[in-house]
Order: sequence, then C-alpha cells, then structure tokens
Amino acid sequence: MFENLSERLSGVFDRLTKQGALSEDDVKTALREVRVALLEADVSLPVARDFVKKVQEQATGQAVTKSVTPGQQVVKIVHDALVDTLTGEEDPGELKIDNPPAPILMVGLQGGGKTTTTAKLAKRLKEKNGKRVLMASLDVYRPAAQDQLAVLGTQIGVDTLPIVKGQSPVDIAKRAKQQATMGGYDVYMLDTAGRLSIDEELMAEVEAVRDVANPRETLLVVDGLTGQDAVHTAENFEERIGISGVVLTRMDGDGRGGAALSMRAVTGKPIRFVGLGEKMDAVEEFHPERIAGRILG
Ligand code: GDP
Repeated sequence: MFENLSERLSGVFDRLTKQGALSEDDVKTALREVRVALLEADVSLPVARDFVKKVQEQATGQAVTKSVTPGQQVVKIVHDALVDTLTGEEDPGELKIDNPPAPILMVGLQGGGKTTTTAKLAKRLKEKNGKRVLMASLDVYRPAAQDQLAVLGTQIGVDTLPIVKGQSPVDIAKRAKQQATMGGYDVYMLDTAGRLSIDEELMAEVEAVRDVANPRETLLVVDGLTGQDAVHTAENFEERIGISGVVLTRMDGDGRGGAALSMRAVTGKPIRFVGLGEKMDAVEEFHPERIAGRILG
C-alpha cells in the first residue's frame, strides 16, 4: 500500500549528483520524503515537523560512508532519531508492584482492549514475575463485562473478585482492596468501565476510583489503529486522571504505528506495552526499535 521509505529515499538520491558529504540540499530533499512518510504513518503534523528539523540538523554535513548509499545513510539517521525519540529513561515492562497488594488501574475507552489487556498483563505478572494477582471488573454498565473478565481469569488461572450485583465502581474497588489484602495477593488490577467517547461521567467515575485505590500504576489502553484519536484520548486522561503509561493495542494490524511517536511527544508518557492479538500471550513490552522499523516501512 505504501511505498517504503528506504525505496523512496534511494529514488531521490539516484537523481542527485554524487558528492562526498550530505549537502544541505540533499538532506532537505530527502527529509521532504521523510515528512510525507511520517504523515502517512499517522504521525501528527507538528510532531513530524519537529522531528524532521532535528534530523536535518544531525544529517547535514555528515560524510557519506563508502559502504552505503546516501539514501541508506539518511534512513539510518532517521531510524536512530526515531528510536531516540521513542526511548525513555524507564524500563517499559517493569510494573511498580512493590508493597503488596499493589493496585493497578486500567483505564480507557470502550472497545480499546482494556479487559483483554488486563488479563494479558495479569498472566504476565503471574508467569514472568511469579506474582499472585486478583482482577476485578468495575464495569457495572455492560452486563457481560464482569463475566468476560471472570471467563478470562479462569482461562489463565488468575482469580477474579466475586461478582456482587448492585455495587458501585467505588464499592467494588474497596472490596477488591480488602480481598487482596486479606487474601495475600501481590497485585490487584481494577478494570474500569469505558465509554464510547470521553465524557464527564466517565472521568468523574475513574477519578473517584483512583482516589479510593491510590494506584501504583495507571495504564491507559488505547487502540493503536486509531492514530491521532488515541493520542487525543491519552492527552485527556493524562490531564484529568494522570497516567503512568500507555498500552497500544491492535499493533498486530496493518497500522503504521505513527501514533506511538506522537504519543510520547504529545503526552510525555511512555508506551509500556503493545498488544499484538486477541490471545492471552499476545502482549509484549514496548520496543522502540520495532516501532521505528515499522514507521519507516
Ligand atoms: P474493552 O472494551 O476496552 O475492555 O475491550 P476488550 O478487551 O473487550 O477488547 C475488544 C476486542 O478487541 C476484543 O475482541 C479483543 O479480543 C480485541 N483485542 C484486544 N486487544 C487486541 C490486540 O492487541 N489485537 C487484536 N487484534 N485484537 C485485540
């Protein structure tokens, strides 16, 4: 569907006269292509513009290595700059779960993959970190939501909080904390209800749950295929609730992953995990190089 950026740049450089160093004009021409490729990969315009400026400063005047073409060299510079932009100081896969029971709050819009991701991360905590996890669904609106989490719990061998009809999300959060403390769990995960779009009611509810649970991690789960919408959602949640990171789901789809670059630049929050399918193992910690490769195509 897309012309790959490496091919595109080779084409541009084939038309240019060969020189010993990357001239400002060469770099400018190449970076026009990079900017178009970034926009096609759904990176937002201001982020693409800033990024290209940064690369331009790095690339101008660099000697062209004999073993690679100028096109390949620019691709490498762009790749390294993407990785640099996407890499934070923290270890994305390391969840803060000391002082048991550690609460993890899962937030996001409906259909983003929140419940699935809650179970995937619970399984990972159990198998990789050897933790005892309790999951609780706070979705009192969709009758099937609490059952959905219970079914996943049975499937992965992780306990879920028994369902009590008629309780509010805050009541359920309190009960989860109590059960996690009494039951000697290391972690309890609160799967909040989503809405089709961000509204005051949703935010007020999540805020109330946050205040009761005092979470160590608040992970926002967003559909990576929704591109800029995912970034706007993250901006809203960060502003109102405060998040400790983002999980980008559906990265097994054919989206180009540009949302990842904008996410970091716009919200300042790290992407912690990536969802790669519907199965319970289809989650991995965020690898900047993989997304960079994908954005470049
Ligand atoms: P929630 O409303 O945010 O809790 O969303 P769900 O967890 O119910 O997920 C909605 C749908 O997306 C389900 O059919 C999931 O199996 C699917 N889903 C979740 N994460 C991923 C992912 O990373 N890749 C793919 N392909 N599907 C996913």
